[in-house]
This record gives sequence, C-alpha cells and structure tokens, in this order.
Amino acid sequence: MKNKVNGKSKYDVLVIGSGISGLTAALLFAKDGKKVAIVEQSPHIAPLICGFDRRGVHFETGFHYSAGCGKDGIGIKMLKELGIEIPFELCEDESYDEIRILDKNKSVKIPFEKLKLEQKLAELFPKEKENIKKYLDLIENTKKKISFLYKDVKDLSHDELLNFSDNGKTLQNVLDECFTDNDLKALLAHSYILYGTPPSKVSFAVHCCCVSLMMDSVWKIRGGGRALVSAFSEALRKNNVDVFTNKKAVKIETDGNEKTICFEDGARMKCDFCVSSVHPKEFIKMAPEGVYRANAAKRIKDIEETPAFFVLYGILRDSKKYKCSNIAFVNTADYARPLYSGEVLPAYINFSDTDPQSVCVVAFVKPDKIYWDRNMPEYEEKKQKTAKEIKDKFAKIAPEIASKIEYCDIATPATFKKYVNYYSGYGIMHASDGVNVLPVTKIPGIFLTGQAVVTPGLLGALISSFLLYKIIERDGR
Ligand SMILES: Cc1cc2nc3c(=O)[nH]c(=O)nc-3n(C[C@H](O)[C@H](O)[C@H](O)COP(=O)(O)OP(=O)(O)OC[C@H]3O[C@@H](n4cnc5c(N)ncnc54)[C@H](O)[C@@H]3O)c2cc1C
Repeated sequence: MKNKVNGKSKYDVLVIGSGISGLTAALLFAKDGKKVAIVEQSPHIAPLICGFDRRGVHFETGFHYSAGCGKDGIGIKMLKELGIEIPFELCEDESYDEIRILDKNKSVKIPFEKLKLEQKLAELFPKEKENIKKYLDLIENTKKKISFLYKDVKDLSHDELLNFSDNGKTLQNVLDECFTDNDLKALLAHSYILYGTPPSKVSFAVHCCCVSLMMDSVWKIRGGGRALVSAFSEALRKNNVDVFTNKKAVKIETDGNEKTICFEDGARMKCDFCVSSVHPKEFIKMAPEGVYRANAAKRIKDIEETPAFFVLYGILRDSKKYKCSNIAFVNTADYARPLYSGEVLPAYINFSDTDPQSVCVVAFVKPDKIYWDRNMPEYEEKKQKTAKEIKDKFAKIAPEIASKIEYCDIATPATFKKYVNYYSGYGIMHASDGVNVLPVTKIPGIFLTGQAVVTPGLLGALISSFLLYKIIERDGR
C-alpha cells in the first residue's frame, strides 16, 4: 500500500475513503477500464471492519453478520460482479440473535425464515397471532417496493434507482398500529441496533431495508471482517487500483472538468471524477463552493447523528461456545423512549468465532465530540468511569457471561473518530422526515456514496456504490 502520492499524475476517478462503499466504487470504475486511485486517512484500508489483535486473539470491529449473502442473494451477486468470493456461512437458524427483555426477565431466541419467526412469535404472543402475520407480510410487501433489494442493479429504471418507497411512517408508528403488547413491540424494534436510528425516528422503509432480507437468512464470514478486507485488497491489486493510506483529504478544488484533491500533508492529486465515501458532514467541509445550495448544505449539517459506540473487548474464558451471534438487552419501554436516558446500558454483546472466543460488549452513548475528545483533560477519567459502569451493569444483567470475561481493550467514540473520522456509530440518522443524502451533487464529476446514501451495513454500503455507478453510467455526469 502506498502512502506517498507517487502514482499517476492524474486519475480518471479518485475515491476518498476506503470503507466497503469506497472499495466497491473503486473496483466498479477500475473494472470499467478507468484509472482509479483510492485515498484513506487511516493507516490501512477498511479500518471500520478489519478488526484488530490483542493478546493473540482477533477482535471484530464493524462486521458481525449480514443478510442477502446466500445463493442468489443480492450481496453475493454484487460481490461476484466485483470479482470477489467470500466464504459466507449460515448463522444458527433457530437463534442467530437472542433478545433479553430485562424488565420482564424474558429471553427470546430469534430464528430466521419468515414462517419460523411467525410461529415463534405467535407461540410467545398468542393474542397477537393475526397481527404478527399482518406485520411480517407488511415487511415483505414493503421490500417488494424497494427494487434494489431484490433486482439486479443493471435492470433498475431511473425511478427505481433514486426513488425510495417511504410512506412517512416511523417504525414506532407501524408497531403501534399493529400491536397492543409492548413486549412484542420492544422485541421487534430491537433491530434498530443494526442501523442506529431509534424506532420513534426511523423510516419504516429503512427499517425494512435492513431487516426484510434477514427474514430469509443471516450469514457470517469465515475469518470475519478481515477476510472481507483481504478479498477486496486482492481485487484492488488485480484491477490496478492505486491505494494511498495515511492520506487525509481536506479540500476538493474544481477547475472546469478537472478536480484537485488536497491533503492534510500538503500533497495534491488530480482527477476527472471524485467520489467521496466519507461522512457527508466531513464531505461538506472539504467540498468546493456550489456543491450544494446553501439551504441543502445546512440541512445536511443539521442531520442528527446515530448514537456512538462505546465498546469493551474481552476474551470469554468458558468451555461453552456461544452459538448465537448477538445477545441484545432491551426494556419494554425502549421502543418508544428517547435515545439517551442519561444511563449507560449495554445494548448487546457479540460473540465472534475466534478461539478462544472473543466478545465485544457494546453500549450506545452520545456522539458528543466535546465529551469524547482525547485532548480534553476529563477524557481518560470519563473513559474509565463509563467502562466501569458498563461492566457493572453487564455483570448484573448477564452474570453467567460477565463473570467469565477477561477484558482486554476499550473503544470510545474518540477511537472511532480516529479510525473512521466520525464519532457516531452508523453516521447520520435515517429519519422518516429526514434529509436524503443523494449520490449526485450540483457539481458534475463530484459524487457521494456510503452508508449515508442508502442504509448502514455491508449491503447498504455495497448498494450505494452500485447505484452511484449505474447513475454515472446512465447520465455520464
Ligand atoms: C460496531 C459496529 C458493528 C457493526 N456490525 C455490522 C454487521 O454486523 N453487519 C453489517 O452489515 N454492518 C455492520 N456495521 C455497519 C457497517 O460496518 C458500516 O455501515 C459500513 O462498513 C460502512 O461503510 P462505508 O464505506 O459507508 O463507511 P466507512 O467504513 O466509515 O468508510 C469511510 C472511510 O472514509 C475514511 N475517511 C473519512 N474521512 C476521510 C478523509 N477526509 N480523507 C480520507 N479518508 C477519509 C474513513 O477513515 C473510512 O475508512 C457495524 C458498524 C459498527 C460501528
């Protein structure tokens, strides 16, 4: 990987940011015969999902599992088009997630396959049987209106590309319309931990984007996130994409059709097309004047952020292997509660497939940079205090697991800021009455991709770049 700008003097396409969306965009253009470079502010590519090693154990950071990765799944189709083969493995079909409803002392193991899920929920909530069927059918029908979830991108029409079927309802609105039992609502709302926008704000359509395919099957990767990163890395090499790490873009200049990307270290690179996969608020800071109208830029700057992650990494010293990927902790009232109550609670624990088994205990905190700036004198104290609070609460709600964890490391929102250049876990919120971040800007040749454009997640990041590519291919902007 290069960290000096000694590549070609001018690129056809320069991609800023090497997360899944940036890597996907770079490969799509390179496969089309374009000379492509990708620049990343971190020391290595895909810093969010590549994980890290401590005490000889590998820890996952930004990828646990995904839907759409079975035979003929949209994830597999897109990866295949990029020339990437990934060893996906099916998660446990009867219990890929376990949800503990803390205030009711209930635990529910969630299966995939719509019928199994319907039966399981009906057994637990017999009075809601009919409503459960209707609700799951509603998710299925909403999915059918979101073409990119099931059609090949190459077959999508203009309307299907940019129009996102959204009837303005939030997940909470729909749950309240469908059910009376609050435990059931809390259970069904728990998947907001996969995208970070709370049920009272998330558009029901975005919720369906993230969960509808999970009703079919859920997949993990043998070798975890780093296997995905190695496969992308190999594909970049084969397709002659130049990769520059430790290269933070700070400014995009335009002169006619030519764009110049300026970096923190003073270097400059030229290109015809610039694709930014960074957080949209960071993009606005570096974008040239006129990229958005003033009011559109303000709307983007004002978008609320998803919660930040505070993560404790540990090794489970237990002969028992936990098969479910996640155990999520909810309270009945959570689905309708404001996001931050002032109390820091573990949201979920994830078990990875490493041996010895590595785990991460994840809590949501405010993505507040004043609070989480490493240079603030209070930072270290705040970090240790929060870690203790989470450990203590975790020991109360899951003592059989907590007593066997040997904690090894902590990631605060400042850690995420360092590695991915934003504090919030999933970037901006996808609220039902929120702003759509579009892939095209007012300046021809400057584009956006990434989790802000479609949804967070591996699939959301892949889809965003396929959509962008298709739009450019069609409009030639
Ligand atoms: C704890 C956690 C667990 C998750 N678990 C799952 C999961 O199980 N399944 C799933 O599907 N998804 C999961 N996700 C979500 C998923 O990881 C993300 O939605 C996805 O990886 C985002 O990809 P992206 O390309 O849009 O953004 P990013 O990966 O954030 O890529 C943006 C890149 O741009 C770089 N950058 C930023 N600013 C600059 C700059 N000025 N110059 C150069 N480079 C810059 C950043 O360093 C970063 O590498 C998880 C996320 C987190 C945080």
